[in-house]
Amino acid sequence: MATGKLQIVPLGGLGEFGMNCMAVRWGDDIIVIDAGLMFPEAELLGVDIVVPDISYLTENRQRVRGIILTHGHEDHIGALPWILSELNVPVWGTEFTLAYVEDKLDEHGLRDNADLREIRANERFKAGVFTIHPIQVTHSLVDCVALAIHTPLGVVIHTGDFKVDPTPTDNRLFDLHSFAEYGKEGVLALFQDSTNVERKGYTPRCFSSSIHRIKLAVELAHAHGRKVAFIGRSMNNSSEIAEDLGYIEIPDGLVINPGEMKNFPPEKVCVMISGTQGEPMSALSRAAVDNHKHAKIEKGDTVVLSSRIIPGNEKTIYRMIDHLFRREAHVIYDDGSYPPVHVSGHASQEELKLIINLVKPRYFIPIHGEYRQLKLHAEMATSMHGSVGKVMLIESGDVLEFDELGARKAGRVNVGRVCIDSGNRTDVVEDLIIKDRRHLSEDGIVLPIIAINKLSGRVETTPEIVTRGFNPGEDGLMDGARQIVIQTLEQSSDEERADYGVIKEKIRADLKRYISKQTQRRPLIMPVILEI
Ligand SMILES: [Zn+2]
Ligand SMILES: [Zn+2]
Repeated sequence: MATGKLQIVPLGGLGEFGMNCMAVRWGDDIIVIDAGLMFPEAELLGVDIVVPDISYLTENRQRVRGIILTHGHEDHIGALPWILSELNVPVWGTEFTLAYVEDKLDEHGLRDNADLREIRANERFKAGVFTIHPIQVTHSLVDCVALAIHTPLGVVIHTGDFKVDPTPTDNRLFDLHSFAEYGKEGVLALFQDSTNVERKGYTPRCFSSSIHRIKLAVELAHAHGRKVAFIGRSMNNSSEIAEDLGYIEIPDGLVINPGEMKNFPPEKVCVMISGTQGEPMSALSRAAVDNHKHAKIEKGDTVVLSSRIIPGNEKTIYRMIDHLFRREAHVIYDDGSYPPVHVSGHASQEELKLIINLVKPRYFIPIHGEYRQLKLHAEMATSMHGSVGKVMLIESGDVLEFDELGARKAGRVNVGRVCIDSGNRTDVVEDLIIKDRRHLSEDGIVLPIIAINKLSGRVETTPEIVTRGFNPGEDGLMDGARQIVIQTLEQSSDEERADYGVIKEKIRADLKRYISKQTQRRPLIMPVILEI
């Protein structure tokens, strides 16, 4: 066995939802698995996307051999433009994944300089000291792979996102054989998707892949004499890529431009529209409030939300569904009834156990999940004595080190969230926004910025106060405001400080009282909490 140390360093996605990114290092060679983003929580108002802090990679820039993508979902590829602009390294991905990547890089003007390398399931390739074997898996997207990484210490398997679908629509089967073969030969470590570990049994089968759902809807529309209109950026992208790569066949004359919809009666049109997570800029959200040029929701329309409700998005999704109900549409959404509108693309407990039993790893490490999911996944694996040697529970930033003596946590690297505002928020529609704008134009805005350490709950630095369009008059006013913020923070319990909704509301109320007393004005006050 080789002497040396294999280090696994998750830079995101372990202990949080999204932002999946993991470095694998042997000596002077580092490869990175996935480069995902996280959609911002409501707390980060004004921020478009959140990406992982990659200072570990930039500090080791001459060692980074490239990025390997498991599949094309945003939480796996969304941070690529940001990472490549810091660190232009080769990117490996399957044909479908790279088609999404090309699109994304195009948008940022990065495509010409990008070194994109296509991989196929079962075709091994080398990156630095590592040989990588992509293994076909099934998930809620096509062309997804798990990765078996051959390292000098043994094989490490990273499942990517998966579910075990025995009858995928495209007949590209989950390659259980490869997992089993590795299990026979011996696997050093298995890193497995924890997203659905709370669900018992098996994830039901259905048309879980978005591409297969588009294909099916196109076929049904055709069979029922309806024209098809694709509306919204991501829907257009997906359908174009899927058609180019042969995943869907669209008969001539079936698709119409959104502008032509008015020429057909509603019962002769099927609209496929982006925005099932209630994203405020999405085409569906705009249609739901009569603010889309072509798509209008009318009485009697049926709207099918063919998606699961991603945790954290409940409020915005239900707000959009309310708008649809108000327009007397018949809305079909994931309300827990059976059969489901949509099934998850992630493995439930029995599927997770199946893979563990096939792979029989010496070390098992849960990935892709919030802390409770990682913990439950670890507990589940610990109970499987016959199949798992040792279970290691790590979070983003932990360095997991393997050598001939075993595995251990060996320190931490800097990780965190970097917020990016693309500045493209021209289409906001809600009344509230208009009210805010009026408010802003009259009294301006005050932003108290508070840095809270996510782990300890401590306030890290003196709060900053940024103002726009608000004239604080004399200097002392802002110093006073800072004191108010500090006071509010000090007088709050740890629990209140950990609940950003509560603490922001307290700061806002106290500042409002102070400012209106001092200046007789009522600027918009929006506390911003930076987790560090
Ligand atoms: Zn995924
Ligand atoms: Zn994912």
